[in-house]
Amino acid sequence: MGKVTGFMDFERVEEAYLPPKERLKNYKEFVIGLDDAGAKQQSARCMDCGTPFCNSGCPVNNIIPDFNELVFQGDWKNAIDVLHSTNNFPEFTGRICPAPCEAACTLNVNDDAVGIKSIEHAIIDRAWAEDWVQPVVNTHKTGKCIAVVGSGPAGLAAAQQLARAGHDVTVFEKNDRVGGLLRYGIPDFKMEKVHIDRRVQQMQAEGVTFKTGVLVAGMPNDSVVTNWSKETVSPQALTAQFDAVLLTGGSEQSRDLPVKGRDLAGVHFAMEMLPQQNKVNAGDEFKTQIRADGKHVVVIGGGDTGSDCVGTSNRHGAASVTQFELMAQPPDQEDKPLVWPYWPIKLRTSSSHAEGCVREFAIATKEFVGEKGHVTGVKTVRLELTDGKMTEVAGSEQLLKADLVLLAMGFANPVPTVLDAFGVNKDMRGNAQASVDEEGGYYTNVDKVFAAGDMRRGQSLVVWAIREGRQAARAIDQYLMGVSVLPR
Ligand SMILES: Cc1cc2nc3c(=O)[nH]c(=O)nc-3n(C[C@H](O)[C@H](O)[C@H](O)COP(=O)(O)OP(=O)(O)OC[C@H]3O[C@@H](n4cnc5c(N)ncnc54)[C@H](O)[C@@H]3O)c2cc1C
Ligand code: SF4
Repeated sequence: MGKVTGFMDFERVEEAYLPPKERLKNYKEFVIGLDDAGAKQQSARCMDCGTPFCNSGCPVNNIIPDFNELVFQGDWKNAIDVLHSTNNFPEFTGRICPAPCEAACTLNVNDDAVGIKSIEHAIIDRAWAEDWVQPVVNTHKTGKCIAVVGSGPAGLAAAQQLARAGHDVTVFEKNDRVGGLLRYGIPDFKMEKVHIDRRVQQMQAEGVTFKTGVLVAGMPNDSVVTNWSKETVSPQALTAQFDAVLLTGGSEQSRDLPVKGRDLAGVHFAMEMLPQQNKVNAGDEFKTQIRADGKHVVVIGGGDTGSDCVGTSNRHGAASVTQFELMAQPPDQEDKPLVWPYWPIKLRTSSSHAEGCVREFAIATKEFVGEKGHVTGVKTVRLELTDGKMTEVAGSEQLLKADLVLLAMGFANPVPTVLDAFGVNKDMRGNAQASVDEEGGYYTNVDKVFAAGDMRRGQSLVVWAIREGRQAARAIDQYLMGVSVLPR
């Protein structure tokens, strides 16, 4: 514990943002991280609790009190070693994790939580700046080879762990670039893609082979528009060639809204628009990019993906952006004694909302209306909670002008063709069935085949994908070698 009275002496300080007017000019990151002195002061607020709830609130179990102490002491080098011991990619989580650790912080019971995420961000950015992030090469090779299908955070974390355990790892990715939703989903203004590129270079130096533009198993689903694959590989070829296969293909089946007018031009899945913009930022060209310039945009879905559509539409120069959420507006403040240390449901205003957006709660879409085949409006109805269910309010129908509608209602499950081609059993939600237990797990019903990340647990978070990738790597190592020294 750096300073015994730190939590009383210092207020929580949030990371600063460039003003909306500035940041809307481009797709660059706009968060101004803590400087060394700021991080030291914020780390001094940590109480080094006997039972650090933050540590179990964090899905990768980051050893938060320890790195807080090290930052307070100015020992940044050991701080990054502690952070890397549980998290392969703190530069991802330090930018885009919603920080469930902070909800679980003991200070959050009756004060503002320690700014854990901002300290994590400061540690890893300092480590890259100091050139402390170097390849960790294992020269003792096991002779075992593993295929990882999918290069999102789950696949990347697993591949890095397995390579460091001495295995030969090949990552197959159907898209033209590595990174999964980090690359083609999460906008650059939340996380620039240089962070992925640096890690890919590190992993290549550690012996990981990346094969992009390769689709494993059958035809992709039409709705998965991020597919730019040129080659295909069959499950039989993979299982014959490799000692183990890890499926980390994500949860790519977007939820649809099959109401009247769904087929009008101008009604798109969010995941048609967002990856395109990321590709354009990377220098690619589209003849017909889905753009919001001068348009009245309606985003259907109140979550992260919807918020990313808001931020992207505003950067395009939309005339107006309205975001719909089916559920009623949550309270501004949670009932802390009731929900702590768990993740609270409360009104969250993202940086994209702050850039300009009307948020409508308790609203449902009845129909898309159009002229000459193109959407011009959305017919809506208000909802209210009756007997625990959201029901329509009679006479509350409205028509809202819309030239572009983005469907951001989450993801139902992985694309079934991939799991079916491998013969992997699915759970009730259509995810890969691969249970997790104290010993590891992640094993499917098919010999040699494991599954992790969103493909196994359903639509989730980057930090959960990293955890699943790490744990699946240990399970595979144990399966191949009989014992594993990789962390759980
Ligand atoms: C728009 C958006 C914004 C988000 N924002 C956040 C956020 O701010 N913070 C956060 O924590 N989480 C966020 N998430 C969720 C997070 O991105 C995911 O939970 C996480 O990326 C899942 O990781 P994954 O490795 O399991 O799968 P993914 O990242 O989905 O990666 C799967 C990869 O597998 C590839 N693949 C699939 N099938 C095949 C095949 N047959 N052959 C070859 N390759 C294949 C795909 O092309 C993809 O690259 C967001 C999600 C979206 C869609
Ligand atoms: S990874 Fe997320 S939950 Fe874990 S310490 Fe970082 S911000 Fe908190």
